[in-house]
Amino acid sequence: MKLFEEKCPRCNATLDVKTQPGSKKIIVKACPAGHYEKEFHPALETYIETYKVS
Ligand SMILES: [Zn+2]
Repeated sequence: MKLFEEKCPRCNATLDVKTQPGSKKIIVKACPAGHYEKEFHPALETYIETYKVS
């Protein structure tokens, strides 16, 4: 399954994929400028979005 490419809702940059060192089951995608993060939790079949307002 291919994860769809996602963009930052603020600056439209393609989100970077990061892995969590202690938790390989969580996939984090984040704006390179730090506006937005999205955490995927495949085991829970859900995700958490974080908007960083500054
Ligand atoms: Zn951004």
